[in-house]
Amino acid sequence: MKILIVGGVAAGTSAAAKAHRVNPDAEITLIEKDTDISYAGCGLPYYISQLVKKRKRVVINTAERFAEKYDVDVLTEHEVLSINPKNKTLIVKDLNKNKEKKEQYDKLIISTGAKPFVPPIAGIELNNIMPLRTVNDADKIKDIINNKGIKDAVIIGAGLIGLEMAESFDRLGINVSVVEMQEHVLPNISSDMAEKVEEHLESKGVNLILGDGVQKFQGQDEIESVITQSGEKIKADLVLLSLGIRPEVELAKKAGIELGETGAIKVNEKMETSLEDIYSAGDCAESVDILTNKAVWIPLGSTANKQGRIAGENAAGGDYSHRGIMKTGISKIFDYTVATTGLSKKEAEENGFNPIEISFKAANHAGYYPDVSKLYIKGIFDKEDGKILGAEVIGEAGADKRIDVLSTAIYSGLKAKDLFQIDLAYAPPYSSPKDPVAILGILAEKKLK
Ligand code: FAD
Repeated sequence: MKILIVGGVAAGTSAAAKAHRVNPDAEITLIEKDTDISYAGCGLPYYISQLVKKRKRVVINTAERFAEKYDVDVLTEHEVLSINPKNKTLIVKDLNKNKEKKEQYDKLIISTGAKPFVPPIAGIELNNIMPLRTVNDADKIKDIINNKGIKDAVIIGAGLIGLEMAESFDRLGINVSVVEMQEHVLPNISSDMAEKVEEHLESKGVNLILGDGVQKFQGQDEIESVITQSGEKIKADLVLLSLGIRPEVELAKKAGIELGETGAIKVNEKMETSLEDIYSAGDCAESVDILTNKAVWIPLGSTANKQGRIAGENAAGGDYSHRGIMKTGISKIFDYTVATTGLSKKEAEENGFNPIEISFKAANHAGYYPDVSKLYIKGIFDKEDGKILGAEVIGEAGADKRIDVLSTAIYSGLKAKDLFQIDLAYAPPYSSPKDPVAILGILAEKKLK
């Protein structure tokens, strides 16, 4: 049994490790075009801000360590150029030696991930304008900061990564501006919740430019300023492009593998693609939204790991299914945690639900215990049967556990009345006798009645 895996970050390495456990006799080769495998993309903002000091802390396994630990052949700086599904071969190029060779497979896993969207804006080729995706990108950004005495950074795009990076730059004493075309930061949360984050960012000195896009980048060789569509000029000696990513699907597409409507690779619950013996996992592949049963593309490390594990198990002869996702996500933005799960009210309506929305403020723990802070909570419920469909939680402390309780509740199909009944842990430093999750259930029940 020969298993080839293309792409060696979250999904690819999870697939390789699981395939080895399921079938220790399988010959597994992990092929990665970059220099690193198995790194924590999610940790890069903290590596840049020096909260995590050493590179080796974000590169979980070197190629050598991974190869030894899981008895896998690892080829770094090797690019897969094409797949021939008929005779089950790949053309692989050794990027150092500039040499191509053919590799045979019994099972193939495509975990080619995603690539940053780089818009064709005038001046984009200037130095010190770059996206953040890989450890090498992070190293370049660190180099620029260390060697150029960066004072002003402009982040284009106010998504989760853009805002995490606002905090990272701020920690390094850099003035931060964020330019966002939409009226609000964080397009995945509702606008009233986004406003809380905006107030928080401004209180930290971040210059937010909302509802305005970039017209052009100006400078000699290096970036000097960003000109917005409304004509505003923002001083910049570093620009971070954080405009989202696109699934890396060219290889699969050329091989005749079906893509879904989202543009990512279509897979079933076994992570099988439309071609026999070819699986796909991670940021290049679709998932199913548990609540709507529709294919979605939500590129997250949590999902990439899960899908990789499932693809690895099945490719190695096991039988494992992916139930789906609920788009649960969390991010630390300065002192705030911003967390979401399930559907927004708009998404619920678009998918044929009849939703009600509950929003309220609560204390994260007992009011008399030191360091109490506010939690802003929103819940979406189905008017027909009271089922919880979605939630958003923002606050300085305790948002993480509330979102995970609520996401577990959604996964389990719980209703408003169940949220009061769940036996949640309580002591003053952690909660109140009536936890905010229970209060959400009580308020929702009242409104539903
Ligand atoms: P990738 O990480 O994109 O890896 C794919 C690999 O395939 C790449 O190394 C690429 O070089 C290789 N490849 C592509 N084509 C070929 C080819 N033809 N031949 C050989 N190799 C090829 N997710 C969360 O859940 N929580 C977070 O907090 C979070 N924070 C993030 C912060 C940042 C700054 C970034 C960049 C991402 C963050 N993510 C987070 C997302 C998470 O990192 C990704 O979802 C995850 O890395 C996806 O893993 P993957 O293996 O599917 O794809």
